[in-house]
Amino acid sequence: MTHVDIVIIGGGVTGAGCLLEALSRGLRCVLLEKGDFSSGTTSASSRLIHGGIRYLEHLHFGLVAESLKERFWIWQHFPHLLRPIAIHIPVYGWGKRSPLVAGLGVKLHDLLAGKAKIEKSSIYLGKKARNVVREISHDGLSGLFVFHDYQILMPERIALESIDAAVSMGGRAENYTRVEKISQTDGGYLVEARNSHTGENALFSAAAVINAAGAWIDEVRKMAGFRGKLLRPTKGIHLEAEKLTGRALFVEAETDRRLFFILPFLNHTLVGTTDTDHPGSPDDVRPLPGDVDYLISNVNRIFGGVKLGPSRIFSAYAGLRPLINVPGKSESAVPRRHLVVCEGPGGRFVSITGGKLTTYRKMAEDTVKKAQAVLGNPGGKREGPPFLPCGITDPREREEFIRHLTGEHGIGEETASALYTVYGTRADVLLAFAGGDARLKSPLSPETAEIPAQILYAYEKESAKCLEDVLLRRMLIGKTPKKGLGEEGKIKEVLTRYMGKSPGEADGLFSSFRDSAAAKFMIKI
Ligand SMILES: Cc1cc2nc3c(=O)[nH]c(=O)nc-3n(C[C@H](O)[C@H](O)[C@H](O)COP(=O)(O)OP(=O)(O)OC[C@H]3O[C@@H](n4cnc5c(N)ncnc54)[C@H](O)[C@@H]3O)c2cc1C
Repeated sequence: MTHVDIVIIGGGVTGAGCLLEALSRGLRCVLLEKGDFSSGTTSASSRLIHGGIRYLEHLHFGLVAESLKERFWIWQHFPHLLRPIAIHIPVYGWGKRSPLVAGLGVKLHDLLAGKAKIEKSSIYLGKKARNVVREISHDGLSGLFVFHDYQILMPERIALESIDAAVSMGGRAENYTRVEKISQTDGGYLVEARNSHTGENALFSAAAVINAAGAWIDEVRKMAGFRGKLLRPTKGIHLEAEKLTGRALFVEAETDRRLFFILPFLNHTLVGTTDTDHPGSPDDVRPLPGDVDYLISNVNRIFGGVKLGPSRIFSAYAGLRPLINVPGKSESAVPRRHLVVCEGPGGRFVSITGGKLTTYRKMAEDTVKKAQAVLGNPGGKREGPPFLPCGITDPREREEFIRHLTGEHGIGEETASALYTVYGTRADVLLAFAGGDARLKSPLSPETAEIPAQILYAYEKESAKCLEDVLLRRMLIGKTPKKGLGEEGKIKEVLTRYMGKSPGEADGLFSSFRDSAAAKFMIKI
C-alpha cells in the first residue's frame, strides 16, 4: 500500500494540472488514469484556446474575462503549441444574431482581453463584408465580424508536459490504471486500482481524493458512495474534411441557430461542434449519422451549395463536455464555468466539474487549494509559477532556436520546426535521445516532417503503451487525416529495428492501431 496526501483520479488536462499544482505546493500525490493520459475529452475538443465569445450572449462576462486571462497564461507557457487565428462571424438576415449584437460582441471581447489582446477586431458591413469573404454565400449577408483567438495543435501535450514536470518533482502518474473501488477510512480514503497492461492491483491510502474524471465524475462519486448528479455531460462531434476554406468561420446553424466552427487545421478543415445531451455511458460516445448530417447540411447552407459531402470527409470524432448540472437550461446555455465540490467527512472528496481546456490551470489551482484547505493546509504555499515555460514567445528567438536545432543535430528546417511545434525547447532533449543515428532523424512522413526517434521517445520517456498512444496523442501526425496509417512500412521498421519486435509482432501492433484509430475516428481506411 502506498500512502499519499492526495490521489487524483483522471489523467486529462484537468487531472494533470492538479497533479502539477499539488506537487508545487509540496503535497505527495499520485494520479491514476484508466486509459492513456488525455484519451478522454482532452483529445476531442475544437482545439481552441479561447475567451469563449459566444458566452457573452449569455452575459457571462466574468467567465470570458477569466478565460482570456488564462488564454494569455497558456500562450506564455506553451507558445509552441498555439497559432493565432482570425475567426470570421458572418451575420445573415435569416439568422438569430443581428449585426449590432455581433459588433458589440467582438468589441467587448477586445475590451475584456485588455493587454492580452491578440489583434484588434474588425467589422465589415454590407458590400465590404461580401468583398472580404468571397467563398461563402452572400445571400442575405449583412455583416462580417472578425475577432482573434488561438488554435492549439495538440492539447494532449499540455497534460503530458504537466505530468512530466510533476513527476520530475517527485509525483507519480500511472496510465492504464483504473480506479475500481474507493472506501472511506478514519483519516481519508482507500483507493484500489487495477493496471490493465500488467494486470496488477495497487492500493493507495490518501488523506483526500481529487476526482478529475471529466465526464466520468458521477461514476467515480458513486464508487465512493455519493448520490445524485453533479454533471450534465453533453456530446460534441467534429468532422475532419478536405480543405473547404483557408479562413476560420464561426457560423450560425440554420436548423437551430447554434454557432459552430469551420476551422483550417494543418492542411485540412475541422468542422464542429454539436451540443446534445448524452444520457448514456461516457465510455460509449461516438458520432452518429444524425450528428454528421447536421454539420454537413449547415456547412452547405453557409457555402450556398454542396461543398461538403461524405466523400470529402476523412473522419469524425466525439467527446463529452463535463458540464455542471443546471436543470432547465438548453444544452448550449449551460454555463461553462467550473465548480469545485467537496463531499464526505471533512469534505475530503473533492470533485472538479465544468470548465474547459482553456481554464484548466485555474481549475487545477482552485481544486488543489480547496483540497489543501480541507486537509488543514499541509505542504505549503506555492512559491513562483508551478511550471517553467517550454516554448519561446519572441519570434526572433524562436527562429534562432530552430536554426540551432538544424545546426546542432543535422536535421532539415522543416523537421526542426515540426519538432519545436511538438516539444518546444525540449526538442533538444528528444534529438539528444536520437543521438547520431541519422535514420532516426530522417522525416517519417511528408505530412508533418516528424521523425522515427519520436516513436521510441514516446515509448521510453512518455509512458506510451501502444501505437495509438504514440501516434494519436504524442505526435502531430495523429492530427493529420491519415493519422500515420499511411506510414505503415516506416513505423514497423522502427518497431523491428529498434524495439526488438519480430515482423509478425510489428504487424500485430500496427493492425491494433489501425483498428483503434478506425473505431475512435470513424476513419475511412
Ligand atoms: C466537442 C468539444 C469541444 C470542445 N472544445 C473546446 C475548445 O475548443 N476549447 C476549450 O477550452 N475547451 C473545449 N472543450 C472542453 C474541454 O475539452 C474539456 O473541458 C476538457 O478537455 C476536460 O478535460 P478533463 O481532464 O476534465 O476531462 P478528460 O480529458 O475527459 O479526462 C478525464 C479522465 O478521467 C479518466 N477516468 C474516468 N474514470 C476513471 C477511473 N475510474 N479511473 C481512472 N481514470 C478515470 C478518463 O479516462 C479520462 O481520461 C470542448 C469539449 C468538447 C466535448
